[in-house]
Amino acid sequence: MSVPVSLSSAEVTADGPITRSRPALSPSRAADFKQCPLKYRLRAIDRIPEPPTRAAVRGTVVHAVLEDLFGLPAAERHPERAATLVPGAWDRVRAERDGIDELVAESGPEALFDEVRRLVTSYYELEDPRRFEPHSLEERVEVDLDGAVPLRGFVDRIDVAPNGLLRVVDYKTGRSPGPVHEARALFQLKFYALMILRTRGIVPAQLRLIYLADKTLLTYAPDRDELDRFERILTALWRAIIDAGRTGDFPPTRNSMCRFCDFKPLCPEFGGTPPPYPGWPQQHSEPAELGSPGALPPEDV
Ligand code: SF4
Repeated sequence: MSVPVSLSSAEVTADGPITRSRPALSPSRAADFKQCPLKYRLRAIDRIPEPPTRAAVRGTVVHAVLEDLFGLPAAERHPERAATLVPGAWDRVRAERDGIDELVAESGPEALFDEVRRLVTSYYELEDPRRFEPHSLEERVEVDLDGAVPLRGFVDRIDVAPNGLLRVVDYKTGRSPGPVHEARALFQLKFYALMILRTRGIVPAQLRLIYLADKTLLTYAPDRDELDRFERILTALWRAIIDAGRTGDFPPTRNSMCRFCDFKPLCPEFGGTPPPYPGWPQQHSEPAELGSPGALPPEDV
């Protein structure tokens, strides 16, 4: 049995909106652990800050613009109006995160504004926001699978058709994935589908990833049996995280994303030394066994 925890709106960050109210498995942190357990540890347990990147901030501003766009009456959601929303969205993002001004210190924000406007213009080639009314925007979803595997995610948009069919939409400001990275996108889609199934009791009719950089849609129609199998996969992943959290054994795993990793100076694969393992966050004692209420892995995993 799954336990719906909460459904509410939340703040927006470059990697999607984040709050740190309780331990949970998110698509991003699950991907981290699968890719490199040490990266996962340094992010989710040590909480070593990573500087914001221009691409991530641009993505956050685009998300904020699209959220504001759907806050307007449908007839006003035309491209010219959308372009006027960029400065306000930028101001909001700046107010929420440190270190952003440095990213545009040389050129000023206008160049970034232009990049955001181009992406928002691309959006109109994929959907017409004047033709439908979203059911929810930037919704935070949390659910405990069997009271022991806490999942957390932020859904950019949920649409509900008059016949009750539900569509989950996620905006991506990068390019659509090639065959190598498609599995990661599919993992995220299944993650969302499972959370919707366990919180609302229905299988979404469609999940849609919108890649603005190359104007591409990736859609997926989940299947109930497939989601049940996926739940078992997440349960096994959570068990592996809990085991690693108990022993502190988070081995570095060299991979194609190492070149973008901010933790290289701390990584043995690149001649570095990680800081001593801090253990689970203070507010939690020992990680509990999977299946017992209140399993105790770190937050925002
Ligand atoms: S540099 Fe590579 S191996 Fe090292 S922590 Fe980062 S992702 Fe892992």
